[in-house]
Amino acid sequence: MQLRPQSRGVIHAVSPEPFVAPSNRPNFLAEEEDRRVIVEGMKIARHIVEQAPMDVFRDMEMNPGPNCCTDADWLDFARSNGQTIYHICGTCRMGTDEKAVADPTLKLRGIEGLRIVDASIMPKMLSGNIQAAVFIIAEKATDMILADAAR
Ligand SMILES: Cc1cc2nc3c(=O)[nH]c(=O)nc-3n(C[C@H](O)[C@H](O)[C@H](O)COP(=O)(O)OP(=O)(O)OC[C@H]3O[C@@H](n4cnc5c(N)ncnc54)[C@H](O)[C@@H]3O)c2cc1C
Repeated sequence: MQLRPQSRGVIHAVSPEPFVAPSNRPNFLAEEEDRRVIVEGMKIARHIVEQAPMDVFRDMEMNPGPNCCTDADWLDFARSNGQTIYHICGTCRMGTDEKAVADPTLKLRGIEGLRIVDASIMPKMLSGNIQAAVFIIAEKATDMILADAAR
């Protein structure tokens, strides 16, 4: 698992109709660094399991198996067997620059009265499970919404 991938995907609305599914291009392994890390990581995993103290636990390597030898083989295995861990985030990134969708108080820039409170505002991908961070975003947003309402 590449916990800090450099590849970035895109998701775009394709229609003003809300029930039309958006176009989603994850773009996995687009960046050379991600390909390198994934290939090296799998090679290290094989190396660890090949060590003598692991003999009692290991029989044969089933996947990708002994025919996987070159970096190209490993990458091919990653491309055909890799899975997302469903940590989609950052599609409405929070920030202060021109390209940020939400401001640091989670308000949608350019539209009055609308905040975004979910994983989409994360400016960067976390290197781990993201649900706890979503809860924290929600708690923080609640405080900001209540503070605004009290003014
Ligand atoms: C299979 C799977 C396993 C996962 N496992 C883990 C894990 O082990 N640990 C971890 O930390 N994270 C895990 N995640 C990731 C985590 O669940 C999500 O990142 C997190 O739930 C995102 O929260 P969110 O509020 O951004 O979006 P969501 O939780 O998707 O919430 C979006 C909400 O909006 C509602 N909605 C959508 N459209 C509309 C609409 N038009 N009008 C009104 N409501 C709408 C949806 O019904 C939904 O309730 C997993 C995700 C998946 C899919």
